[in-house]
Amino acid sequence: MRFVSTLFTTLKLLSRNVIYISAALLFFQSAYVLGSTATREPALSSISSPQHCENVAVQILGSGGPELDDNRASSAYLVWHNNTALVLVDAGSGSSIQFGAANAAFDDLDIIVLSHLHTDHAADLPSFIKGSYFGSRTRNLPIIGPKGNNLMPSTEYYVSALMGEQGAFRYLSSYTQPEQDNYTLIPISVTAPAFNYRVNPSLEVSAIEVNHGPIPALAWKINIEGCTIVFSGDTNDEDATLANFANNADMLVVHNAISNNAGTVAKNLHMTPAQLIDIAVKSKAKRIVLSHIMKRSEKGLNALKDAIFAATHHPVYAAQDLMMIPLSE
Ligand SMILES: [Zn+2]
Repeated sequence: MRFVSTLFTTLKLLSRNVIYISAALLFFQSAYVLGSTATREPALSSISSPQHCENVAVQILGSGGPELDDNRASSAYLVWHNNTALVLVDAGSGSSIQFGAANAAFDDLDIIVLSHLHTDHAADLPSFIKGSYFGSRTRNLPIIGPKGNNLMPSTEYYVSALMGEQGAFRYLSSYTQPEQDNYTLIPISVTAPAFNYRVNPSLEVSAIEVNHGPIPALAWKINIEGCTIVFSGDTNDEDATLANFANNADMLVVHNAISNNAGTVAKNLHMTPAQLIDIAVKSKAKRIVLSHIMKRSEKGLNALKDAIFAATHHPVYAAQDLMMIPLSE
């Protein structure tokens, strides 16, 4: 009888423990789900003490290249500060849709910078401007991008050819003529090899010319309250300037468009994975983001991510559309 009673007590204890363990598992599971949902939100205000890059985050709007069937929007990024999207870097195809999905507000943007004027980096620009009609923007908006050459228009010509008085979308020309609408676009073409532009006391953007074959192209650095984020844009880094430009950056976003065994034409436009590892190491950037992923580069993406982590011991991210990466330490 005593044996039966002891057995009964043991079983009762066991079942109670099972309930405790299940409850604990459920708690951790829901905490994990909440945590992963939270990474999709721009809210970054949970940090109490001042620190480097506090409340700064980069969001990927488009992680792809120009392919139609890659299930990614083309190149575009947002730099967030205090839950406000301040800088749009590139405006590739599909990025205006992702901008809305990110809950960003066009009225809040301080500046748009463009790495170059290929469609997968600049085609959505008029869609953003048309979309702004439904907002309440009143501040003028600088759009800064590369100079032109015999193949490509300058940024000023690009904006004018699209939205000038004789442009393809001339119905938007009130945004390019001073005093004709609630705000005016201020296009600027970068003509010097190195360029610097202070947007306001806490935000500065700078650029260097990079080699993207015959296409005028820029790498951009965004400095916000002393926190630096560098975007390589498309380049073959022929002059090996990117690592130095991104020296000690809090984040370096590089474009992984080709594999190591790509052909000469592709290598004249883009960096190989071997170059990306080298640049990640030499730059000492604190975080690396692999973006502009194409079908030809996606096969080696995980191996490249692992190789960069092994070489740098810094976080490495494979970009996905709408991914939000906080920079607070
Ligand atoms: Zn591209």
